[in-house]
Amino acid sequence: MVKTTNEYKNRVTFAIISHPDAGKTTLTEQLLLHGGVIRQAGTVKGRGSNKMASSDWMAIEQQRGISVTSSVLQFDYAGKRINILDTPGHEDFSEDTYRTLMAVDSAVMVIDSAKGIEPQTRRLFEIVAKRKIPVFTFFNKLDRDGRQAFDLVDELEKTLGIEACPMNWPVGSGQLLQGIYDLQADKLIKYSHTKELDQSVYDEAQTEIELLKEAGNKLDEDKVMYGRQTPVFFGSALANFGVEQFLNEYLKYAPAPSEKPTIDQQEIQPDDPQFTAFVFKIQANMNPNHRDRIAFVRIVSGNFVKGMEVTLARNGKKLKLSNVTEFLADERENIQNAVPGDIIGLYDTGNFQIGDSIFSGKKRVEFEPLPTFTPDLFNRVLAKDVMKQKTYHKGINQLVQEGTVQLFQSWRGQEYILGAVGQLQFEVFQFRMANEYNSQVIFEPIGKKIARWIDPEDLDEKMNSSRSLLMRDRKGDPVILFENQFSLNWFADKYPNVKLQAKL
Ligand code: GDP
Repeated sequence: MVKTTNEYKNRVTFAIISHPDAGKTTLTEQLLLHGGVIRQAGTVKGRGSNKMASSDWMAIEQQRGISVTSSVLQFDYAGKRINILDTPGHEDFSEDTYRTLMAVDSAVMVIDSAKGIEPQTRRLFEIVAKRKIPVFTFFNKLDRDGRQAFDLVDELEKTLGIEACPMNWPVGSGQLLQGIYDLQADKLIKYSHTKELDQSVYDEAQTEIELLKEAGNKLDEDKVMYGRQTPVFFGSALANFGVEQFLNEYLKYAPAPSEKPTIDQQEIQPDDPQFTAFVFKIQANMNPNHRDRIAFVRIVSGNFVKGMEVTLARNGKKLKLSNVTEFLADERENIQNAVPGDIIGLYDTGNFQIGDSIFSGKKRVEFEPLPTFTPDLFNRVLAKDVMKQKTYHKGINQLVQEGTVQLFQSWRGQEYILGAVGQLQFEVFQFRMANEYNSQVIFEPIGKKIARWIDPEDLDEKMNSSRSLLMRDRKGDPVILFENQFSLNWFADKYPNVKLQAKL
């Protein structure tokens, strides 16, 4: 009998969401510094001039054999074990990014206080909001002249539709930054670069703080837990100002790993002794000499023990989990033990698909499938060498199962169209087709489209036109790719009873 422990309760598993350049990397670095993982800032992404620190970083990457900057970071801080799941920035934007948000218990939203809410923050926030997971906001770059704090908070509430609860409040900004006022402890935390307090700046902030104390939102933990209120912090990641306060407060309110629904409407609790987990990401090793892939697995319940046998819910296959990698940054051994909330990396030779559930013991557990996302970029795809159809089809099928891209097929006929939410997905697909399946593919860009799923019962082949391509998705369900909003509206007028559905 496997023992259960309460160890999972000290796990904090989250992702940082932000628009590129808002300061996600810099904040991550600061968190790692606080966790004692790295010694000096400027190490992530090989930025900065400090050689020793960056070689530390490289060493971590090498030891793990995977790119740290695109996966999972684990470290201990203040009695908690923290798992940060990376959601790659702008250029790397993909369905992977979205799916990673399915494996976290909370999110930290970093916003540039000179810019406010930017498009990518909004896109990522929407996904987080749909899952109703707690979001904590960090307005960054307070050491620079930014927008008024009230203005930023107001925009946050209006554009994202979430209540904001300031936990601290800036006293000045940029050149005039005096500090932040801790509204919980009711005290000023002085900015270290400020020698003498500027009284007029301080007085102005004081008026705002009084206003907040009287009329501002009060912290409501229930609302935070359901993602209806976001605690808001101000600070500067680069100056390491307000970061520690943020981290401590965040850890106070961040949720521990919670239950997860199965396809038969059960909930698996984290203290359930049966080991259960799901695959949320598959990362291929880009090195052609190593064909292996790593399946990123989030543990939902029970304890992981190296070498344990599990069943893959999709096909009943039994697997022994011996070839595992860990993400703990300051230990070098292979992982021995992990608990709910933790992420393990399983070296995979083709067993896993995105969204797969695994479980130990006899009781079959299958979690609800990961959501499909509505792609908006599309490419028609063809094999360069028509003689190599077999490997071409094999490659497409496997890569689609891994979630690299989405596949659509014309309703009548053999035409393949690939869909993605980020351009990089196509590049990865093309690269891997060539490298792993020896199949050169040609893309014919068909541009942006609006994909909408329809009920198979509403299907009428007359719906197919050059402005509304009727396709089937991987599961065979009908989907229409509209040329633009205009053609979608036109269609909706013509077929008022047909429900057009977007995925997440
Ligand atoms: P990411 O794209 O969100 O990961 O952003 P980075 O962490 O790479 O930061 C983008 C740029 O903003 C870099 O030049 C950082 O040095 C800078 N930056 C990040 N945080 C701060 C901050 O608090 N203050 C200032 N002035 N610059 C910052």
